[in-house]
Amino acid sequence: MDSFEDFKIRTQLKNAIADLGFEKPTPIQQESYSTILAGKDFVGIAQTGTGKTMAYLLPILQDLKFSEQAHPRVLILAPTRELVIQIVEQIEILTEYMSVRVAGVFGGSNNIKAQKRTVDAGLDIIVGTPRRLYDLALSNVLRLSAIKKLVIDEVDIMLDFGYKTQLRNIFEYLPAKRQNILFSATMTTYVDELIDGFLINPVKKTISISGTPLDTISQEKYAVPNFYTKANLLNHLLDDREAHHKVLIFVARKSHADKLAEELKFEGEISVIHSSKEQNHRTRSIESFEKGTSRILIATDVIARGIDIEKISTVISFDTPFYPENYIHRIGRTGRAGEQGRSILFYNEKESELKDDIESLMNYTIPFNAFPEEVEVSEELTPEELPKVVDQFAHLQEEDDASIVGNAFHEKSAKNKKAKADEKAYHQTMKKKYKKPLRRGDKIQNMKKKHKKRK
Ligand code: AMP
Repeated sequence: MDSFEDFKIRTQLKNAIADLGFEKPTPIQQESYSTILAGKDFVGIAQTGTGKTMAYLLPILQDLKFSEQAHPRVLILAPTRELVIQIVEQIEILTEYMSVRVAGVFGGSNNIKAQKRTVDAGLDIIVGTPRRLYDLALSNVLRLSAIKKLVIDEVDIMLDFGYKTQLRNIFEYLPAKRQNILFSATMTTYVDELIDGFLINPVKKTISISGTPLDTISQEKYAVPNFYTKANLLNHLLDDREAHHKVLIFVARKSHADKLAEELKFEGEISVIHSSKEQNHRTRSIESFEKGTSRILIATDVIARGIDIEKISTVISFDTPFYPENYIHRIGRTGRAGEQGRSILFYNEKESELKDDIESLMNYTIPFNAFPEEVEVSEELTPEELPKVVDQFAHLQEEDDASIVGNAFHEKSAKNKKAKADEKAYHQTMKKKYKKPLRRGDKIQNMKKKHKKRK
């Protein structure tokens, strides 16, 4: 199955693939095509950038017969508005020569009335974020009783965002007899639960496990003592405009994103996105980065996951991520489609253990770069770096996108003062919820801890 010819797909799809210029299926496409086409439940563990979207779209579209029935037969759930838009776009490209009715629905500024009209006009495939989809199902405009195939994309993020209840609610509306297809970049205990609870003997394929860095990405790391020194080093590295012509910088929390933008000397070349920015601002920032108007995009993990931007030269982890898997997600943004990419990781003393976790997950030691002599080491510390406020859970603010967790994509005023207070409360909740990263191996660690406590 290493050529599209082996797929024996219908001519209309074949022509669309030819237009895209794809020469051969990616490994996840090779692994999933026949299983999904055969109607079996399927779990794909694949990162963004592996061609996972087409991996489920191709067999689904191959099997989709022309129909004028009003109620959709395929339901695709995705965690973010950005991802919904991308999936719809890919469907539209692939169905250029077919007659397929598709629509994407999501919350926020998008008008629910217009979405209701689109649904009412009849659809074959509906793609949406869980909350908006559930609202449409509740209002009876969207009937899910004809769904034959359910796809949940980026399950790990979906569960991270707290969509568990919404998913269960949506499942209630679906016919019991259906095909379930799950895609996730990482395995977590939640993903496992979902598989156990809702899938029937699924076929599981793992492609480029999250612990395996992509071959096309060169990696390097710098030990940097604090925020301001990290900013100095970044200013130094980014001077090389040729090597770093499209740079995605990851920070652990939104306060860092804004503060870092102020510290960088490249005014006019920087865009910032995080959940407190309004949707319009986020869309504009992404567009200007995509077009190359701004060379540098500063983002938090959660917000950056749904973005599909090509030709990123460099991914810089300004803060070491708390979950080692997130590092893999981050670097997966570069080195796409056969292009060479570069990943640079900054870590301070407190982040050193997290860096070790990343390296052991990848089973790879990231090459170390000496701190350049010409860069100034700052003595100045941020309030969080001062010893008295050291908080071992500070990294959990990485998930501080409370507006997304609690409120999908509802518009949020950038001037919302309340955000600060919410951020604190949310931080506490996350502390309680995630005592340890939710990975399989940690289950054992957590159990060990519990056991020790009892003794
Ligand atoms: P995804 O992992 O679905 O986010 O896809 C990453 C990128 O790979 C998208 O821009 C796709 O258009 C592209 N892609 C998907 N399948 C192929 C293929 N067989 N050959 C080349 N590029 C592909």
